[in-house]
Amino acid sequence: MLHINEHYLKLQASYLFSDIARRVAAFQEKHPEREIIKMGIGDVTNPLPPACITAFHAAIDEMATTSGFRGYGPEQGYAFLREVIAANDFQARGADVSADEIFISDGAKCDTGNIQELFALDARVAIPDPVYPVYLDTNVMAGRTGAFQDGRYQGLVYLDSTAKNGYVPSLPREPVDLIYLCFPNNPTGSTISKAQLQAWVDYAREHKALILFDAAYEAFIRDNSLPHSIYEIEGARQVAIEFRSFSKSAGFTGTRCAYTVVPKDCMAYDRSGTAHSLHALWNRRHSTKFNGVSYPVQRAAEAVYSEQGKAECKALIDGYLDNARLISQAMAKLGYAHVGGDNAPYIWVQSERDSWEFFDELLEKAGVVCTPGAGFGRCGQGYIRLSAFNSTANVEKAMERLATALAK
Ligand code: PLP
Repeated sequence: MLHINEHYLKLQASYLFSDIARRVAAFQEKHPEREIIKMGIGDVTNPLPPACITAFHAAIDEMATTSGFRGYGPEQGYAFLREVIAANDFQARGADVSADEIFISDGAKCDTGNIQELFALDARVAIPDPVYPVYLDTNVMAGRTGAFQDGRYQGLVYLDSTAKNGYVPSLPREPVDLIYLCFPNNPTGSTISKAQLQAWVDYAREHKALILFDAAYEAFIRDNSLPHSIYEIEGARQVAIEFRSFSKSAGFTGTRCAYTVVPKDCMAYDRSGTAHSLHALWNRRHSTKFNGVSYPVQRAAEAVYSEQGKAECKALIDGYLDNARLISQAMAKLGYAHVGGDNAPYIWVQSERDSWEFFDELLEKAGVVCTPGAGFGRCGQGYIRLSAFNSTANVEKAMERLATALAK
């Protein structure tokens, strides 16, 4: 008899987005005349930058010729893309990362989910709360947790991100081996300073631990004092893997391209204490289970780093940040405490009541859809997430409606 991986049975069905859809559909059925504005989505809304489209088209035309046709490419990605990434995203900021330490992939979701395969099942794992759920669920699937009780999986160390610590988790009191961090953060929109990140790197070095640093929203950073990469922090190369994505920086959510940096001197240990290169292990995993991102998509991603591409991507993100500013200003005016939105597309608002209750209130009174914070973890209860991924006209209209609906 074939048995299933029973760890899957521990997973909590993710009701968040289906619950939202169900409530919105019920509301719309009751009030077909009301126009709904979705301020909860984590997907970009603007088209791809023209520089990317031109490169994409040209690469497809190349594929139509005998001389330009490409079959399987290198699993790690084409050198032309890895080189511009290393030069622009790291070396230009003084971070020591070389092209052959970069692994191109089809998404930071897959990479942040798959990376845990490299580590022992008894690794002590620290995961933020609230959190992008992929880190949590992939460790549950692998069997690194116990059952789900009182809103949390047994056996994990949760890193509370609350108003008390400025939404940057404090170092754990108990020793941990694997640490997930995400800055700028989804869902809170909070950022981490160089000094705060240095403390985490020092902790990892002291405990022979590893930091998995998700920088999917790096392109939204506008405060020059903030680190864009963990490799701007001294000592990080030996203890950190970084994830980046073109999804939010260049509108590639539907086009699919991302990358993971695994420095060659980044290590983890066998039971005898011997150090092993995680670069070699990830290279083995990646080349065994992944067959590369398509050539046209990699050419489109390369165009992000052209002068035209840089200007267009900056304008794209500036537009979302303008929306975020409108949302923050509206929340401030209404007297709701909030964070995020300055260097991130998300605004995390204290709802002053149950997350879902506030969700229903915004829907009923204003026809505005948000994401209830409770869906991102226990510490998200009492919050909602508003997203800047929308047209400015929609954001303006939504904020006008909230001003009327929530006036205290
Ligand atoms: N990491 C975080 C924190 C995210 O919020 C998301 C997407 O919303 C991803 C990774 C996934 O990125 P990708 O589209 O590259 O899979």
